[in-house]
Amino acid sequence: MSKKGIAILGATGSIGTQALDVVRAFPNDFEAIVLTCGSNAELLIKQALEFKPKAVVLTDTTQLATVKEALKRQDTAVLCGEEGLVEVVQYEEVKVVLNAIVGSAGLKPTVKAIECRKDIALANKETLVVAGELIMDLVQQYGVSMLPVDSEHSAIFQCLVGEAHNPIEKIYVTASGGPFRGKKTGELLQVTKAEALKHPNWAMGAKITIDSASLMNKGLEVIEAKWLFNLSIDQVDVIVHPQSIVHSLVQFKDGSMKAQMGVPDMKLPIQYALTYPARFENSFERFNFMDYPTLNFEKPDMDTFRNLALAYDALRAGGNKCCVLNAANEVVVDAFLKDKIGFLQMSDVIEATLNKMEFIAHPTLDDYLETDRVTRLITSEIIKD
Ligand code: NDP
Ligand code: MG
Repeated sequence: MSKKGIAILGATGSIGTQALDVVRAFPNDFEAIVLTCGSNAELLIKQALEFKPKAVVLTDTTQLATVKEALKRQDTAVLCGEEGLVEVVQYEEVKVVLNAIVGSAGLKPTVKAIECRKDIALANKETLVVAGELIMDLVQQYGVSMLPVDSEHSAIFQCLVGEAHNPIEKIYVTASGGPFRGKKTGELLQVTKAEALKHPNWAMGAKITIDSASLMNKGLEVIEAKWLFNLSIDQVDVIVHPQSIVHSLVQFKDGSMKAQMGVPDMKLPIQYALTYPARFENSFERFNFMDYPTLNFEKPDMDTFRNLALAYDALRAGGNKCCVLNAANEVVVDAFLKDKIGFLQMSDVIEATLNKMEFIAHPTLDDYLETDRVTRLITSEIIKD
């Protein structure tokens, strides 16, 4: 059987490196055809020397010459920029594009990959937050598979196997609650980025770790789930589950609930997205009931963690609102990580941006890209004031 060719966009990140662990574990099944990064040339070179892909792409061009020099003895093309990303997803050898880029920068390569009839293994949730309706229409139109990598969405996807004709009543997206679970507004005034970066259950990239602390990650995941599983907003509920063992649940029309469980380890949803519909034997850590005698569930505190409420509001409003929410969030997270604003200010600035941006009821791809661009300017101005 021939190997499945994979393009890993964002190969140097948390998801990207774990995806390469999966490829490494199944050398007869998968082949890394493309690896890309933003600016981490050193790691990209190391990965390219090991996996010998057909091409690598750096979106930040400063180290292009270094990468070319390091890979000159092997048959790996070195491309750069957004154009490079859009080119490599088209390669004939690529069967699946695993999009593990962080942020709305992942949108254009996803669109191009779908148009070239590649299946998508989606970690880059921002793609669906920004343009969920448009993306799922393209998925239908081109007849490709959209395979979730996000653990909650992978859980729901796994619960739905064999249930094609059974309508969903609702889904519960689980949330760990992050490092500040249980804290009230007064206690969050002074929290530092070091505290926000300490996630209790998952080791992830900086942006999603801050999103998890502020509950924006759960807001983005509600939006992602709505589009992925074609649900109404009222069918998507969030339940806080601090142990992150139940990765999410589906409730069917007969009241039956299915959950997918396991220790928190992103390699499993990554692997499942690549092996679906099969399950490959692996040696990842197994769940032990005696380590978790109690599993807890709580209501999310949307008064304190306002981002989750802002995300539901944006989703209800529709149009380009979620695109604005996402771009504003990317800017505020960056500002928080640079100590320019406090933790609670993030929600204030996002809300102010949402109120300022022009509403577009039925955006095209260009409208989304323009909304993303303008939102970033407005959010930056609000932060400066
Ligand atoms: P990381 O920050 O660890 O990695 C991001 C990757 O994208 C890196 O390879 C980075 O390159 C590259 N990159 C950054 N900016 C750009 C850009 N503008 N254009 C192209 N490439 C870029 O993020 P994560 O792996 O944590 O997250 C990736 C995506 O997966 C996010 O959408 C996140 O929400 C989602 N996700 C992550 C989970 C996790 O456990 N980490 C869980 C569920 C979803 P470089 O290294 O050079 O900066
Ligand atoms: Mg998740």
